[in-house]
Amino acid sequence: MKIICIGRNYANHAKELGNTIPSEPLFFLKPETAIQPKGHPFFIPDFSNEIHYELELVVRIDRIGKNIDEKFAHKYYSQIGLGIDFTARDIQKKCKEKGLPWEKAKGFDGSAQISRRFIDKSELDLNNITFSLERNGEQVQNGNSKDMLFSIDKLIAYLSQFYTLKIGDLIYTGTPEGVGKVEQDDILKGFIGKREMFIVPIK
Ligand code: ZN
Repeated sequence: MKIICIGRNYANHAKELGNTIPSEPLFFLKPETAIQPKGHPFFIPDFSNEIHYELELVVRIDRIGKNIDEKFAHKYYSQIGLGIDFTARDIQKKCKEKGLPWEKAKGFDGSAQISRRFIDKSELDLNNITFSLERNGEQVQNGNSKDMLFSIDKLIAYLSQFYTLKIGDLIYTGTPEGVGKVEQDDILKGFIGKREMFIVPIK
């Protein structure tokens, strides 16, 4: 399986990092080994002094497809989960300055937190999914899928031009504003609406 992550899919997040708003989706990959084993804490890696959380709605592909038309994209997924795209922001800044790929900052072990549960999309209004992150009991991110620059169906159509999408592939759909640094002993809790989707202790 592969993990495809979308960058700058919320205008206010693009702005908070001083980036321009993209005219087409920006994406990168994480390897399968980035998946945080279920129930494990997140260990701050030695190579970074600035690990950021990025809370993101995650789509799991459940049908193989290539060159998918946007109007059929809804047939390729049935469930929505919640994840964190952990990012070594200090390393990413250096990569960006040099015009280098981001994988070192984005694809390390444990960098893809994913909720154990997924919600059937029939239970959600895909254009109005609220989701939020609490850090030590205080809300730090609060997003709504209506603010995505590119909808889930648009993303699937776009990505499938380049990559065959396979069953089990995950698409991290980008983070809203409010990203920030984690510290040792933080507790992160993610919610879709009022449903608690995950708890991650930071070690
Ligand atoms: Zn992200």
